[in-house]
Amino acid sequence: MHTDFVAALDIGGTKIAGALVDGHGQIVVRAQRATPAQDDGETVMGAVEEVLGELTAAPEWGRATALGIGSAGPVDATAGTVSPVNVPGWRDFPLVRRVQEAAGGLPVELIGDGVAITAAEHWQGAARGHDNALCMVVSTGVGGGLVLNGQLHPGPTGNAGHIGHISVDLDGDLCPCGSRGCVERIASGPNIARRALENGWQPGPDGDTSAAAVAAAARNGDPVAVASFDRAARALAAGIAATATLVEIDIAVIGGGVGKAGDVLFTPLRKALGDYATLSFVQRLEVTPAQMGTDAGLVGAAAAALARRTDAATV
Ligand SMILES: [Zn+2]
Repeated sequence: MHTDFVAALDIGGTKIAGALVDGHGQIVVRAQRATPAQDDGETVMGAVEEVLGELTAAPEWGRATALGIGSAGPVDATAGTVSPVNVPGWRDFPLVRRVQEAAGGLPVELIGDGVAITAAEHWQGAARGHDNALCMVVSTGVGGGLVLNGQLHPGPTGNAGHIGHISVDLDGDLCPCGSRGCVERIASGPNIARRALENGWQPGPDGDTSAAAVAAAARNGDPVAVASFDRAARALAAGIAATATLVEIDIAVIGGGVGKAGDVLFTPLRKALGDYATLSFVQRLEVTPAQMGTDAGLVGAAAAALARRTDAATV
């Protein structure tokens, strides 16, 4: 139905990706730069402008009607600013205004990266057809987003669904966010690896101490590796169960590097959900791996831009 395009930016601590996306979610033009994450804010913005420069030079740009940004958070969609933890040069950085200036005044929609992934999974991935969903990214950190009543629910500032910083262990370890016992503090890749090493897990001859290496060891039956994944699965299950009990989601989608661990994660996770998601209305909750690949952030940012355009058209 749409012959127009939307532009999308996916801004993270390692790369800044941009695309022109059609109304079916197909990427027709793409551009990318490494994020100069340790440089000053203007240098980082320069990389964003280079990506936008490639997009605006494409012949399809003339038919772009809106631009969506999915950014590492925290973001503040109300103020149009971002303060990504891994990009110290950007604190309350006025990204929406700067992108709008570089993009010829197109309407700009800003959401957090977890919300963007959720938009992508709901549009084209594992949450398609589900009106109430929680989508999560479990990798270096743990992020997420919500679909409620058939629509993306970014919340006022664009961060709703940030399940990584729900506390599931009241007296647990301090989290860098300031709270204790957060889902991320237990279930993120680095924390899975840290716990395994602390409990005596030995990496193989290649010295790989990543969560993927712990997952491989768990698959081979290493009891310490299995226990570390089991602990992560329980933290995720408690967070998912809390979310389901609060807002009645019917599916939880898990992506990111740790989400790729497969049965090593999903088998204990489904079992632990039985322990925490106990009330009748959450017992049928489904947990499934994400389907979108590395373009999820771009596709989700495009979905947010399309949704905004649709809103504007109906006002
Ligand atoms: Zn936290």
